[in-house]
Amino acid sequence: NHDFDVVSAARNWRLDSVTPATPAAVVGELFASDVLTLDELRHRLSKPVFRSLQSTIEGGATLDPAIADTVALAMKTWAMEKGATHYTHWFQPLTGYTAEKHDSFLSPTSEGSAIAQFGGKELIQAEPDASSFPSGGLRATFEARGYTAWDPSSPAFIMRHANGATLCIPTAFASWTGEALDLKTPLLRSVEALNKSVLKALDLFGHTESRRVVSTLGAEQEYFLIAEEYYYRRPDLVMSGRTLFGAQPPKGQELEDHYFGAIPDRVLSFMTDAEMQMYALGIPVKTRHNEVAPGQFEIAPIFEHSNVAADHQQLVMQILRNTARKYGLVCLLHEKPFAGVNGSGKHCNWSMGTDIGLNLLEPGDTPHENVQFLFFCAAVIKAVDLHQDLLRVSVASASNDHRLGANEAPPAIISIFLGEELTDIFNRLESGQGGRGAEAGVLGLGVSVLPPLPRHAGDRNRTSPFAFTGNKFEFRAAGSSQSISMPITVLNTIVADAVSTLTEQLQAKLAASQEFDAALAELIRETYVQHKRIVFDGDGYSEAWHQEAERRGLLNLRTALDAIEQLGSDKNVALFEKFNVLSQREVEARQEIMYDIYFKTVNIEGETTEYIAQTQILPAALSYLKDLSAVGVKSRAVEGTTDEVTRVVDDLYDALQILREHNAALGGEEVHQKAHHMRDHVLPAMQAVRQAADKLERIVSEQHWPLPSYRQMLFVK
Ligand code: ADP
Ligand code: MG
Repeated sequence: NHDFDVVSAARNWRLDSVTPATPAAVVGELFASDVLTLDELRHRLSKPVFRSLQSTIEGGATLDPAIADTVALAMKTWAMEKGATHYTHWFQPLTGYTAEKHDSFLSPTSEGSAIAQFGGKELIQAEPDASSFPSGGLRATFEARGYTAWDPSSPAFIMRHANGATLCIPTAFASWTGEALDLKTPLLRSVEALNKSVLKALDLFGHTESRRVVSTLGAEQEYFLIAEEYYYRRPDLVMSGRTLFGAQPPKGQELEDHYFGAIPDRVLSFMTDAEMQMYALGIPVKTRHNEVAPGQFEIAPIFEHSNVAADHQQLVMQILRNTARKYGLVCLLHEKPFAGVNGSGKHCNWSMGTDIGLNLLEPGDTPHENVQFLFFCAAVIKAVDLHQDLLRVSVASASNDHRLGANEAPPAIISIFLGEELTDIFNRLESGQGGRGAEAGVLGLGVSVLPPLPRHAGDRNRTSPFAFTGNKFEFRAAGSSQSISMPITVLNTIVADAVSTLTEQLQAKLAASQEFDAALAELIRETYVQHKRIVFDGDGYSEAWHQEAERRGLLNLRTALDAIEQLGSDKNVALFEKFNVLSQREVEARQEIMYDIYFKTVNIEGETTEYIAQTQILPAALSYLKDLSAVGVKSRAVEGTTDEVTRVVDDLYDALQILREHNAALGGEEVHQKAHHMRDHVLPAMQAVRQAADKLERIVSEQHWPLPSYRQMLFVK
């Protein structure tokens, strides 16, 4: 009697709604066609104006206000040629989503016509009403305004929808008192911190060719697709992004028949469509494939400057969500939409690159390049060990808690996987054994030539949260739905810190008239010895590792709240302030917001669980009991089923009373008290309700069951 139909869900897409794939030749023309690139600007601006703008974009110089009007005019002309009718400052408030408020290019005049209005003033700054964005107390309520400021280092682009287009101008978002209210501002500041630290280190190495250092980033996005038909019949998915109920299907991911399998036509069409839109926006997507869980997929771009990569990553999520709808699908970005099958992450591939195209985490060809590489590797090891807590906080959320440490994705314990070759090198350094064979001893203290490192040392440890993968590190703990800005901000900052410490230590050794190579080798060795407890190449899922990690004194911040508590520690505030990434007030505000989002997320889930159990599942079970009682024949089957359903339905009822009490109580006034109440009381109470409900799902007649099942949702493609 239910109003969803598995057959129509399977059929609910029509080829005629599908955009035909664009041939390769056209892809070349398509790429970045909706982006206001430097090249495009060069054609549209006079030489002096362009040069001035270019030094702002590439060199981080402040924008000359005198050219703002000219640039704005060029932008508007370009955008209107592209069909844009509106423009918006596009920013990333602390919700983790993007925000936009559109203004028309046209303003009506008193004579009844309209004029286009978009000048330097509108380009550089806007004042969206900030009162409904989270500020963590930074913005007193009487001062509701915030302002957005143009970020010229991320290019403007055109966002298209079914019947129009909008010029999007990437911006930072701050309060009038100058505090960052967004995710971009600290990211930009952290890139600057990294730039300064690393340039100083390179200077010591006698490397002067590079003028600027940035962090590079490639983010692999995992997601689920399910038929739209099911989605809207699951209030839990609609309200919370994950299923709060659902019995395990007879088949999950155990056959391993989905991973890298042939991609179904409907999904492939969706992917192709989404990729074409991403190409137009200059997002260099490269790979796509099926992931481990049924209904799970992945998309990954080629790496870019991390600020642009972070903007692009937000767009990737938005395009995936929007495009799925065209195919009768819904894209789920939640970290754990379905219990019992793998969740989704967002692997952040991170490295440091210079303006002459040098990757500082790429092992080199000469001994000199190699020690430089080892120096930066040692800095990363030091950074991760000293600031395990910050990396853990940077991926902390209620939704990621279902993943981290839940026996699938990386554990909540932060450690580094170096791979066999690199571990071997550091071990040799430590024991003073030197390099291999004839080349040993070239640098006196045993650095010598590195054994040739395979450039893409395959990543053979999928359990590590932070792995060296040949020429970059891969931070795998990030959640699929989160912005990558915070993890990257943390990585940039902690590595800037470690590089700057190591640089000072090296300088001290040189000042004590040690010879450069010897000093460097000694420094790398000391650093490794001091921080090697963070290096772990074994199975990160095992119980043995939990014990071993504890013995090593590594942090195990099991839940998001344990992690969030660490954010405002003296050590962390001092670090962020030292590198001008976040002020104490900004750190405290972020901590407050993280607690608040945690609280609200679980609160919504708790309420939704209560609602569904009370108004959908309980009535379904009771109506089944009514039908059973109406059968009228004496039968073991009727009696047995009636007894069983009765027992479980009472369990459900009891669990529901407890959940209702916890939902009604909030655990205190302070936001962290509320958050703890959610974790310690609401989540377990929800679990108890779910347990009974999932049992019922397996014994109540399918015709009475009100929700699409895992069996249906995960396998319609
Ligand atoms: P895999 O992880 O399957 O071995 P790759 O090594 O080619 O695949 O890359 C995975 C991701 O890492 C891609 O998004 C890629 O762009 C990114 N990546 C490669 N090199 C770098 C780098 N120097 N900095 C940041 N990301 C990188
Ligand atoms: Mg990878």
